[in-house]
Amino acid sequence: MTTEMAAAVLYGKEDLRLEQVPVPRAAAGEVVVRVEAALTCGTDLKVYRRGYHAMMLKPPIPFGHELAGVITEIGAGVTAF
Ligand SMILES: [Zn+2]
Repeated sequence: MTTEMAAAVLYGKEDLRLEQVPVPRAAAGEVVVRVEAALTCGTDLKVYRRGYHAMMLKPPIPFGHELAGVITEIGAGVTAF
């Protein structure tokens, strides 16, 4: 099992770094998705320029939320997606 993956990590205002990070594990009610394609949206651009998102992101944090991929792990209680 792969234990690390590449991720773009946002550290602050226009400070985005490509790093190796631990592969997340699926907690109850969650799935883990291996990203096959990712895009950037207008919200990503605003967050990159500001360095944070007041309600969703506190740096440092893996960056991006527009994606498609393959579910590689399911958490307890997940019966469909
Ligand atoms: Zn978006």
